[in-house]
Amino acid sequence: MNPPDQSINACDGVEMVQCSCSKGPWRCKNTFPFQLMEYRGKMQPIKQCEHHRALQRARNKSPAGKASHTRALKSPAGIAGNLKRYASTKYKDARRARKKTEAGRERARHNNKTPAGRARVKRNQTKQYAKLKADPTKKLKHYISCRVREIVRTKGSSVTISTKTSLPDSDSIRQHLESTWPADGSMSWANHGHRGPDKWNIGHRIAVAMFDFSVAEDVCKCWSLDNIFAQWSVENQMLGVKLPCDDELLRLKHCWPASWNSTLPSAAARQAMEQRVRNVFGNHS
Ligand SMILES: [Zn+2]
Repeated sequence: MNPPDQSINACDGVEMVQCSCSKGPWRCKNTFPFQLMEYRGKMQPIKQCEHHRALQRARNKSPAGKASHTRALKSPAGIAGNLKRYASTKYKDARRARKKTEAGRERARHNNKTPAGRARVKRNQTKQYAKLKADPTKKLKHYISCRVREIVRTKGSSVTISTKTSLPDSDSIRQHLESTWPADGSMSWANHGHRGPDKWNIGHRIAVAMFDFSVAEDVCKCWSLDNIFAQWSVENQMLGVKLPCDDELLRLKHCWPASWNSTLPSAAARQAMEQRVRNVFGNHS
């Protein structure tokens, strides 16, 4: 019979614990001072002596130990445990943080190039395209962005742009964008592009997502010369839907979305609005 779990008090007052390792009537005689260690996110008392802990560590690293670990993960209890872990906020936050590291990005690039990854990318694109086609306001939003980019590049013209927005002809748009280039000459038509550290594209002082594209007036205000400027691609991505400072917003009064009812949003309202459009459209609208 195993002796009951007991704590032996040593003379210097440190609580001593007997090793819990046993087999049949035998129980390890080793004792060690009581100590807590973190195990599965909780502080737990150490139960085995240093000798038996070392044995267990060695077994965990052996092929038999690894096989046993894999078996446990594939058991019903193991699968249930993993599912619970995947659903926890702690796990999700850790995943999110890792995705932002260089190693995480590298892994994502790698994963997207595997056959399953390519299929997933394709599926998502199809889903996005179907969503775009199903929603007329979304479609208009996308269409106008594409046409503006196109006529600016090709110096062409578009009926949609001239009827639905307050933008002038492509030459005037080009002139306006050129006037917003920084004085150091770092922007030119040669580095107008989509993504990249040295690319610039058309940015909105008040983000597109703030406007309601089912209202004709809002479309006009969103795509007016005063609301667009040449912006570094990276800055555009980083700022997302963030509104400019109060002074700049006051200068843009004639571009305010109709839903603001001509009142400057308070700091709280501003934050709520940015949060709302981020939730609906994602960070980069
Ligand atoms: Zn022991």
